[in-house]
Formats: sequence, structure tokens, C-alpha cells
Amino acid sequence: MRAETFRAIDGLDLAPEHRALLQPGEAKQDSHGNVHHLPRFFYEIASWDEARDIRLTPHFTVAELMMVDCREADVLLREFPHYVPCAILLLARFLEDFRREVDGPVFVSANGGYRSPAHQIGEGKSVHAWATAADIYRIGDTFLDDAKSIERYGAIAASLSPAVFVRTFGSGLGQTDDHLHLDIGFVTLTPRGCGEAH
Ligand SMILES: [Zn+2]
Repeated sequence: MRAETFRAIDGLDLAPEHRALLQPGEAKQDSHGNVHHLPRFFYEIASWDEARDIRLTPHFTVAELMMVDCREADVLLREFPHYVPCAILLLARFLEDFRREVDGPVFVSANGGYRSPAHQIGEGKSVHAWATAADIYRIGDTFLDDAKSIERYGAIAASLSPAVFVRTFGSGLGQTDDHLHLDIGFVTLTPRGCGEAH
């Protein structure tokens, strides 16, 4: 299945339970004190089968970028449909470019793609809640768990575009030592046919 068959929905039209968890369009303050508005428009994913079936790009399915564990809110973890912010298409495109540059399979960890603002990691302060970030733990046969691999692949990711940010290696605040975090910032996407009048 191709990404063009996605159903885009306005998060403000969701039932109260989902609106409370996904907080579409709501303002969130990040750890630097900057305020960003959470994504408002989502693609609706009917099942895990569909998630594994939908290719965002030739090498990335939506399932790979929405895998979470029990730290996600129960309703969002167990019930379908699932909702993923539309900007996930842009993330996948950058990951596809990255895969081409590194010339090997790129593995995104569980909780390492889209996490809702209700997820216990980040709680909406993290760019992962925009579906514009990926935590990569392995490339080909190389596990990204030391300075050499994280810095090497981080430099390749950062060279793709000024839009790409990678966390530096280390155990300090905002650093990583067991994966490569890359993101393209707090990007939101309004699909054709969706309005922002209200
Ligand atoms: Zn991350």
C-alpha cells in the first residue's frame, strides 16, 4: 500500500478521550523554554497489518516509525485506529536519504519514532511527539553504542540538510550514548483538503 491512500483527519474532530491524549494543536514548552504547537492533523492507521503494509518511502513502513511500548498511554497503545502526525512523511523521506548515504538498512528503536504527548518519555516536550525524530540503534551490522559509530553516522545525517539535527555522543543532558537521535525540528504538516480556519 502506498502512502497516498492515507486518510488524513483533523485532531480537533476526534472524540474527547483521544483529544485529551493527543492534544492536537496545543502549546507545549520544551526543555529550553520555547513554546511549540503540537501537531493537529493525523493519518489514521486501521491496524498493525495496515501499518506494516504502508510504505512511506521505498524502505520505511509506518509501522517502523510508530512502535511504542507500555510507556505509551493505554488507549493509544492497544486500540485502533492509531493516529500519527502527518509530518511523519517528511521524517521518512529524510531517513530514506540517510539510508541511501549509509548504504545499509537503518533500524529505529521501539519508542524511537513517533511518541504521543501522553507517552511517559518526553510527555510532549520532545520533538518525537511531532513524528519528526528517529532514534536509530543499528545500521547494517553496526550497533550505535559508542562514540565512533554515533559520531560517524551522526556526521552523515547532519550533512543531509541544515534541517537535520543530531544529538552529540555522551551521557550528559541532551546527549546520547546508545543510539543516534536525528530530527528535523518541530515541523507540522497540513494536508491538502484540511483547513485551519478554527
Ligand atoms: Zn530521540
